[in-house]
Amino acid sequence: MKKQENKYVSTTNACKLCKPLGACLAFKGIEGAVPFLHGSQGCATYMRRYIISHFNEPMDIASSSLGEKHAVFGGAANLKKGLKNVCRKFSPSMIGVATTCLTETIGDDVPMILREYRSGIAQQGDPAPFLVNVSTPSYSGTHMEGFHEAVKAVVEQLAEGGEPLDFINLFPGFVSPADIRHLYEIVSDFSLECTILPDYSDTLDGPAMREYERIPQGGTPVSAIKEMGRALGSIEFGRNLKTMVTAGEFLKSRFGVVNRRIGTPIGLRETDAFFTALEEISGIPAPQKYMMERARLIDSFVDCHKYVFGKRAVVYGEEDLVTGLTSFLTEIGIQPVLCASGSKGGAFQESIKEVTEGILTDDPDVRDDADFYDIAIDVESMQPDIMVGHSKGYPLARKLGIPLIRVGFPIHDRIGGQRIVHIGYRGAQNLLDTIVNAIIEKKQDDSSVGYSYM
Ligand code: SF4
Repeated sequence: MKKQENKYVSTTNACKLCKPLGACLAFKGIEGAVPFLHGSQGCATYMRRYIISHFNEPMDIASSSLGEKHAVFGGAANLKKGLKNVCRKFSPSMIGVATTCLTETIGDDVPMILREYRSGIAQQGDPAPFLVNVSTPSYSGTHMEGFHEAVKAVVEQLAEGGEPLDFINLFPGFVSPADIRHLYEIVSDFSLECTILPDYSDTLDGPAMREYERIPQGGTPVSAIKEMGRALGSIEFGRNLKTMVTAGEFLKSRFGVVNRRIGTPIGLRETDAFFTALEEISGIPAPQKYMMERARLIDSFVDCHKYVFGKRAVVYGEEDLVTGLTSFLTEIGIQPVLCASGSKGGAFQESIKEVTEGILTDDPDVRDDADFYDIAIDVESMQPDIMVGHSKGYPLARKLGIPLIRVGFPIHDRIGGQRIVHIGYRGAQNLLDTIVNAIIEKKQDDSSVGYSYM
């Protein structure tokens, strides 16, 4: 008799986060917006806890707070009541409504409920914020899909066409607030006007305030999003977006805005591609300050080569971050032995091949739809020297006795995750120094000599 294949295997220590969590992060990058979860209270509490402990900032997420009876009779009444409360308390310019597992399972028709809500508001003559909805069932997708789908929903539901204007759109994906600030700096040094969506560089990394602001300053203005259909072009980061209809692709098909998709600019080659795109769009060469950053980076590659060459790394996290990091590690002489993600976008294997081909002699193992149970089994025979990823990999790094280089999200056991610069030549320099020093520190700790000079 043929052995029955095990059809279902539970996820153990997931290497991904909940889909509407990504949507809430994207909504948080819009000026005056309040993220709103249509579901039960616990979803909002979990997401707030996760986001706050990484960014160390307050994070309000409204909820329709459904209970058992709503699972039977539907959540429309609670959703409308919740929207009304949010309008009264926050006076938002936009509310981003993301669904949850519960409301997707019971089948609430959120677009219809929002239409009813809008027409009720209109009849009463009350001012209404923009309402954007996105479908984010967490049982089919990850926080990154939720993030990208929320960005697309915002553009789909708000952007308008018209005469072209002199600016570009930039869709960076889920990078850090410090990365977004660096992107503004780079683009403005090319004398380009730019709308970055989303922009949580202030809303999730703001100053200390004497008075609590219900909605923090910052974010992409709704007025700028409305003009995105009139941009000279769009740049979107993400080699793994090939299988998705993204905000950039939507603007291209609806309004004819040319979309350049490039890899997230992590490391030398991916950053070179970003700068080349900016040179072509702006018609001016890269400013000297960045050429000097690039030159210093290459110099440090040479300086550090003896410490990193041949070291073996496990890289994990969201697909585009892992692809960028793999590209960078490959450039500096580290062998990525395992590239793993909890996502299953369909392009991961190909993306890793694109950034390693012709440089590595041994291809890394590439695992999508992985959890930390799978990763732990895979690494048993791989003998990695370092792990590169978010804090959820710490128990495994500790068990293996190797350094964990914390990047991306979530970073719950260190301070400053929001201030890590991953992108550009500056980000590559930062990553290089962090990785090399972690390797040296490990060697020093393991040494019986206690040397203090290299
Ligand atoms: S996985 Fe589903 S039930 Fe759990 S927090 Fe996310 S949306 Fe809520």
